[in-house]
Formats: sequence, C-alpha cells, structure tokens
Amino acid sequence: MRVDDVRKSYGAIDILKGVSFQIEEGDLVSIIGPSGCGKSTLLRCLNGLESLDSGVIDICGVALKRTPGAKPAANGPTDLAHAAHLLRKNVGMVFQSFNLFPHKTLLENVMLAPMVVKGTSKAEAEANAERLLNKVGLGERLEHYPIDLSGGQQQRGAIARALAMAPKVMLYDEPTSALDPGLVDEVLDVMKELDREGMTQIVVTHEMRFARDASDYIIYMEKGEIVEISDEDEMFTNPKDPRTRQFLHRFL
Ligand code: ADP
Ligand code: MG
Repeated sequence: MRVDDVRKSYGAIDILKGVSFQIEEGDLVSIIGPSGCGKSTLLRCLNGLESLDSGVIDICGVALKRTPGAKPAANGPTDLAHAAHLLRKNVGMVFQSFNLFPHKTLLENVMLAPMVVKGTSKAEAEANAERLLNKVGLGERLEHYPIDLSGGQQQRGAIARALAMAPKVMLYDEPTSALDPGLVDEVLDVMKELDREGMTQIVVTHEMRFARDASDYIIYMEKGEIVEISDEDEMFTNPKDPRTRQFLHRFL
C-alpha cells in the first residue's frame, strides 16, 4: 500500500495535511497519536469511506488519485467511484463499536456481505463463515445473537465478518477501546495470529504494549501530519522527534 501526500479538509479546517507512507505486504503497522489528530479520517480515506481532497492511495495496484484543486469531474467521477469501490473490496474495516447487525446471528453476520456483495452461494458463505468463526475462537457461538456475546466476542466476530470478504488489508480503528480490560487480549491475539499468517494490517490504537510487541513499525501522528515513523523499539526507547517523546511521556 502506498499513501502519497493525502490531504483532506472539512470546510476551512485541514484535517490531513499531506500524509505519506508505504507499507509492505504482511506488515502490521500501528498508528498512534492524540485524539483529534486525524487517525480515523485517515483510515476512512484508506477504505474509500471518505473522499480525499488530493493525493494518492494505491492498494495492490488499485489507485485512488485526486489532483490538488481539481474537481472530481476532472479525474472522471466514474473512475473515482470505481476506484473507491475496488478499494473497499480490498480493505476490511473493524470499528471501535463492533457494529454487528443485532438482529442476525453471528453466523449470519459473517455470511451476509459475501452473499450480497459478491453473490457467493449460501452454502459456500456458510462454510466460509464457520471456518472464520472457528479461527477467531467462536466456533461454539455460531447461533448466538450479538447481545448474548461479550464485547471481546463481538469484536472477534466483527473481525471474522471483515475477513469474510477476503480483504488484502485489514484496518482497525481503536478495536479494543470499548472493551473491559480483561477482554482486550483476546482481540489483540486474533490480530497477532493474522499477522503470523501474513495479513497486512493497520491498527489505530492506544494499546502501547500491543503497538510495541506486535508492530513492524509505528506511525506517530499529530495535528493531521505524520511526525515520525519508527520501528517499535526505537519509537519507545529513542523517539526521534521531541513531539513523539512528549506524547509517549504523557501517555506512559
Ligand atoms: P482521531 O481519530 O485522531 O481522534 P478524527 O480523524 O476523528 O481524529 O478527527 C480529526 C479532526 O477532524 C477532529 O478535529 C474532528 O473534530 C474533525 N472531524 C472529523 N470528522 C469530521 C466531519 N465529518 N466534519 C467535520 N469535522 C470532522
Ligand atoms: Mg478516531
């Protein structure tokens, strides 16, 4: 994935002020930074939920590109919409608040998108959903409704649901922030397991221990900009930028 000079503003307020980075297949990258610095906006741009004002997002050769100042029409709105659609297909997203469909069982939650979006047969969607729910440790909970599951179980279910679309990249927006402390590790363990299997993952997180243990590298953002990209040891023991040092000092 290549992200090049991505900019986004809401009205007169610049939220992303030229964000660039590159990640290789199989990397696990954590994004940290103070609340309001643009982490969620960046993830929403990466999966096409939000349109960028300018810059390039290229995931596995599908590029979403906006030229500064140009109206969407100048790039061809159809192309842009098509690229956003392709991006969404390649990118799985997991939110803080799980967002499972409350009136569907866990199994149905995981089966739904492949059937609706890809036209996968019911039998195939079901077999795949069972496999994925087993993988995240929920093989015994297939017929449960979200309300009967713990937050950790719901979030693991949400991960299985995203995986059901066979994404090339998984994005997580503070996936453990809404969980009781005792349920955090079971979710982080699933992400570590996916990392071992070679999934490419970007995780916005306040779990510094996870960022340090599990990341190939860490991106520190502040005020809509990337301040520092370092590997996990360097970020925590010897941050390059004084702003990073101050944030980590305040945080730890
Ligand atoms: P983070 O995830 O790092 O906390 P966000 O990406 O959610 O930050 O938000 C960055 C900034 O953009 C914040 O100041 C927020 O208030 C603002 N913002 C986010 N979404 C919108 C929106 N739809 N309209 C206007 N401002 C927004
Ligand atoms: Mg956020």
